[in-house]
Amino acid sequence: MVARRGEDYIESLRQRQPTVYYDGRRVDDVLNHPAFKIPIQTLARIYDLQHDPRYRDRLTIPHNGDRMNITYMIPRSKEDLRRIREALNIIYDNLLGFFGRCYDYLNMWVAIFAAHAWDFFGDRDKRFGENALGIYERCSGNDTFLTHAIVAPMVDRSRKASELIDPYIQAAIVEKNSRGVLVRGAAMVSTAAPYSEEIIYFPNLLRDPHPRYALAFVCPSNLDGIKFIARRSFRPREGYGEFEYPISSRFEESDAFVIFDNALIPWEDVLICEDVDKIIPMMWGGVYMKAWFNYHFNIQYYSRLKFLTGLAFLITQAIGTEKFINVQEKLGELLIYLNLTRASIIAAEDEGEKLPNGLYRPNPEIAVSASHFNMKALPRAFEIIKLLSGGALVSLPSSIRDLENPEIRRYIDKYLVGSGVSAVERIKLFNLAWDVVSSEMGQRYELYDRFSRGDPTVMWSRMPMQFNEQKEECIRLVKELLDSIPNPKA
Ligand SMILES: Cc1cc2nc3c(=O)[nH]c(=O)nc-3n(C[C@H](O)[C@H](O)[C@H](O)COP(=O)(O)OP(=O)(O)OC[C@H]3O[C@@H](n4cnc5c(N)ncnc54)[C@H](O)[C@@H]3O)c2cc1C
Repeated sequence: MVARRGEDYIESLRQRQPTVYYDGRRVDDVLNHPAFKIPIQTLARIYDLQHDPRYRDRLTIPHNGDRMNITYMIPRSKEDLRRIREALNIIYDNLLGFFGRCYDYLNMWVAIFAAHAWDFFGDRDKRFGENALGIYERCSGNDTFLTHAIVAPMVDRSRKASELIDPYIQAAIVEKNSRGVLVRGAAMVSTAAPYSEEIIYFPNLLRDPHPRYALAFVCPSNLDGIKFIARRSFRPREGYGEFEYPISSRFEESDAFVIFDNALIPWEDVLICEDVDKIIPMMWGGVYMKAWFNYHFNIQYYSRLKFLTGLAFLITQAIGTEKFINVQEKLGELLIYLNLTRASIIAAEDEGEKLPNGLYRPNPEIAVSASHFNMKALPRAFEIIKLLSGGALVSLPSSIRDLENPEIRRYIDKYLVGSGVSAVERIKLFNLAWDVVSSEMGQRYELYDRFSRGDPTVMWSRMPMQFNEQKEECIRLVKELLDSIPNPKA
């Protein structure tokens, strides 16, 4: 098992490119397509960290005489989980909390699937348990980069999938044969799909209990019949990127629509087939992916909140508002979000649980609650940056060429200085702030923060049902007090 370098990922992708459409055309080579250059380079840079002497011992672990990517490790103890989190801290501090679909995110999913090979996937049919282990060996062995697609196209959410004009809009089983499962349908977003090597599919909700939708698999992204239609890239115009769009030019991720056009998923890649009872426990209870990915999100957000808080302080210093009470209240609010997120990560580890299968799982109530809170806290952090910046957010001028023109440079140096910062420093700062909260990419990240774990309304409203035990405990406390209060004499 070998932890990759960036060049290994690029070479592997060269040889196994998925079918991608961009701007109406089939992409010949995703590696050389301008729309995918930024994310591929960013990913390659993060893979390289595994071989950086500063990080090697924390991003990789010894395995069979070689080194394995630590995010493929199955955590068996609190200490293991803490080690994975420290690796994620390195990755997301490097990414400033952006680029949430870096390699680590889905590596963890594959490791968790393997941990549940026998008590979940293979408990009724041992083939699926063997498949969970086989998928894990394949992906961890190659240090594979995965994407995932779990949400059905948004055609009409008031109807079940089988009531739509075509029952094969949500990905579904068409037939089973000796080689595998024939799948037709689509999924609405798969971030990173155009430069992925494997894809995880399962439905996030039991929108329809028909067995044809009860399907989970992990297969190569370049399998015949799997097609990705990528959204328009937000890459900045050539030559201006770094200065005008310092975040877009580093952390642009690609999102794609996924089509399974009679894709034959080989049996060895299938984890669930027509077993309706397994869909909900993939997310809640059972495999409980919610506990894992929300824990992961909190770690991403811890890095992002550090960055957003630093940005907010620099903005207020540059315009001389830092000491105003209304400004300090907002800066304090950011620090509260930051520290609550930090606390939730540590608490989810401390109050985690060792499962009978040996896996050590972060505490679901804490991980999910903190991440659901962040569905609203992160957009609020964006709002705070806008409120603190006022009109200065429209960075004028913003082009490096303006600063290079001596005819206007003297005006810029006079009128665009800030409090203790030069005009160049101020323009760079507000270009950054604009890119973070207002550019196309900034808007996309805000959407991601709100929706990427599900719709906040639906997610928050499910919590009373999902945390029923906690609900009952809270009610019991009040009832005990009520019961202790004397009743009127009859
Ligand atoms: C930037 C970005 C990246 C993403 N990347 C990925 C990815 O890599 N892989 C992936 O699988 N998914 C990804 N997603 C999709 C994401 O998982 C979904 O957007 C998310 O699960 C929310 O589901 P939805 O969009 O279907 O919204 P819905 O759940 O359909 O909600 C849409 C609206 O309808 C309302 N609504 C819907 N159903 C109900 C109901 N039953 N009762 C009341 N109100 C309802 C909601 O309140 C909301 O206002 C991404 C999304 C974004 C924005």
